[in-house]
Amino acid sequence: MKKLREWAIFSLFPRHCACCDRLIAGDRFFCDECLEKLPRIEGVICPSCGRGKKECACGHKANYYNSIASPFYFEGELRKGIHRFKFRSAVSNSKAYAAEMAKTIGERFEGVQFDYITEVPIGRNSLRERGFNQCALLAKEISQITGIPYKKGILKKIYETEKQHGLNYYLRRGNLTGIYDSDYPGEIKDKVILLCDDVSTSGETFNECSKMLWLYGAKEIHCICAALTKKRGDK
Ligand SMILES: [Zn+2]
Ligand SMILES: [Zn+2]
Repeated sequence: MKKLREWAIFSLFPRHCACCDRLIAGDRFFCDECLEKLPRIEGVICPSCGRGKKECACGHKANYYNSIASPFYFEGELRKGIHRFKFRSAVSNSKAYAAEMAKTIGERFEGVQFDYITEVPIGRNSLRERGFNQCALLAKEISQITGIPYKKGILKKIYETEKQHGLNYYLRRGNLTGIYDSDYPGEIKDKVILLCDDVSTSGETFNECSKMLWLYGAKEIHCICAALTKKRGDK
């Protein structure tokens, strides 16, 4: 009976592995092969950069956010899956990543009472190209799983920056100064906020968004992303 039900679900809503994109049966998110090889961030984890002890090179410098966490490194088949999600509207992948992110939130931010989750804003050009903000999609899914309320558009990007790719770390730092703002300062003051992004490379986008939240008086800011590059600043 169970087999029949699984088959019926599969035929009605065939699922693709959120890594390698092959068709899978049942209500799973990853195929067996990818599930085994998921590049999980495990062991002792640095709260400043979200990486494992071996990969942490952040020097624990002060950030505007309190901590950062992610279930995965941005590698292998997962990297391809996230790429499909971002650029080719494989939006169903968001459920897979959100489920893993929700688990990570429970583990690493244990005891934190979030007032809400909101997304890192994307520029108008990217929104036009993609038709959706992938970070907002993840934040909404996470909200549904965890019960943390979702607030849309707390932050906005006030002007477009050069594409991040190809700029070195120091240039990027300068490039990101003061490009975010908010129309809702009253929603930020004294709040414990969870900020959601898809992939973080240097942590600077999180830091710049957090800077605005901090300036508007946020009490605590924590960051969650679907994946982190293994080395800070990698693309
Ligand atoms: Zn797979
Ligand atoms: Zn670190």
